[in-house]
Amino acid sequence: MKVRLLSYTKDAEDLCAAAAQSCYSNKSAGDLLKEMKGRRPEKVLESIVGMGHHSVIEHATYTFSVEGVSRALTHQLVRHRIASYSQQSQRYVSMDHAEYVIPPSIRGNGKAEGEFRELMDRIWEIYRDLSKTVEVEDARYVLPNASSTNITITMNARELLHFFSLRCCNRAQWEIRLVADEMLGVVKRVSPSIFKDAGPPCVRGKCPEGKMSCGKPRRKELKKA
Ligand SMILES: Cc1cc2nc3c(=O)[nH]c(=O)nc-3n(C[C@H](O)[C@H](O)[C@H](O)COP(=O)(O)OP(=O)(O)OC[C@H]3O[C@@H](n4cnc5c(N)ncnc54)[C@H](O)[C@@H]3O)c2cc1C
Repeated sequence: MKVRLLSYTKDAEDLCAAAAQSCYSNKSAGDLLKEMKGRRPEKVLESIVGMGHHSVIEHATYTFSVEGVSRALTHQLVRHRIASYSQQSQRYVSMDHAEYVIPPSIRGNGKAEGEFRELMDRIWEIYRDLSKTVEVEDARYVLPNASSTNITITMNARELLHFFSLRCCNRAQWEIRLVADEMLGVVKRVSPSIFKDAGPPCVRGKCPEGKMSCGKPRRKELKKA
């Protein structure tokens, strides 16, 4: 699995801070942005984000390439609707080679790994056979959730905060949590003030999961990210 930040809003933090200040100023965001140069926007952003005035951080967007993940993961990912996605097609890209993700609970787990690999080999054998006689768009119906895929994602900072809140939680499924953790680490480096307190609710305070709580707050771990 690989996560790469391909592109993001230039001067994202200055831009969002200027947009925020423009709500309370007779100056335009353009003039405020010019004045912002050389000054640090942390105070404005921390106070705005802390107050929950999150619409101003919608001006910052981030585009990631997520590579070598399972279709089980991307199915969960695309449930996040305030985002744009481009996913590798199983109609236009040859799936002849067996490429799949093995969960850590199965990898190295003797019999389970053997059975898993055996089934994957058989599935791809059938896929290759089928694709000789039917369209690959139909042959692909036999491919598993474990099939490896690549996806490009664009989210704005507000949606990312929401995404991290749900998917960096220990209760999220392991693969999407790994991807979310990687994405969080990357955006923290480029926009540290916007994402200062990003992560599951246990980073900011009490876990809201009640009896379902994992009891292992991720505060220290994610603050280091
Ligand atoms: C641990 C976990 C387990 C899950 N298990 C299941 C499961 O078993 N089955 C299942 O189907 N899903 C499951 N999900 C997916 C979950 O139900 C959501 O579909 C997914 O997390 C996307 O989140 P969202 O809807 O809050 O936000 P997004 O789609 O990311 O949207 C962000 C926010 O925008 C607003 N919004 C977006 N669209 C609308 C709209 N149409 N109307 C009103 N407000 C909107 C909401 O405030 C929303 O929170 C699970 C998610 C997690 C984290």
